[in-house]
Amino acid sequence: MALFLKKFILNLLFPVICVGCRRETPNSAYLCARCFKKLKFYGKTTGLNLKFVDELNVAGDYDNRPLAGLIKLLKFNAVPEAGTALVAWLTLFWQGPAALKPPNLLVIPIPLAARRRQRRGFNQAEIIARGLANNFDYEISLELIKIKNTRAQSGLNAKGRSSNLTGAFKWQGPRPIKRDILLIDDIATTGATLEAAAETLKLAGAQKIIALVAAKG
Ligand SMILES: [Zn+2]
Repeated sequence: MALFLKKFILNLLFPVICVGCRRETPNSAYLCARCFKKLKFYGKTTGLNLKFVDELNVAGDYDNRPLAGLIKLLKFNAVPEAGTALVAWLTLFWQGPAALKPPNLLVIPIPLAARRRQRRGFNQAEIIARGLANNFDYEISLELIKIKNTRAQSGLNAKGRSSNLTGAFKWQGPRPIKRDILLIDDIATTGATLEAAAETLKLAGAQKIIALVAAKG
């Protein structure tokens, strides 16, 4: 059966519901055009005391219901299609302060440990990273890997969060990296995950590390 026909029938049987207003969306985007416009942009975060991440860009707030809905759908309900609306919105955000962005950024998603990735079927940060790399014509690298099965960060305090991540990441690509990095994740809370990844990348010779996350948790 032709793919579009299959999609059409699936939509009739299981209509896609917008995560913002719970109404059916015609385009299977999980976020209708009206709710998309209601997503609020956040900005640069300076409040966290980050040593290895040079700049943290936070696109939105987890308190924003449609945004949290999209992230939950992508991450916990394992619906990769929810990434499409997230990427579209992050693209709008990243287009904003264009003049300040260094050229030729190397996009690197925060990796998942192999076991977790296998269980979910995909890495949500990679879906976002691929979309952005594509829209901005950046190169992407999946050579940062997670070699430790860490406990979930939620439920740990700041100190616990960073020691939980000690030795968690490994750079498998060529050294020295000698590039400015755009490090991508879905959520940042204390920034511990971004910091641990950024430390690994800087030890491997990365230059400036600019982080971009969809939401502040
Ligand atoms: Zn809606």
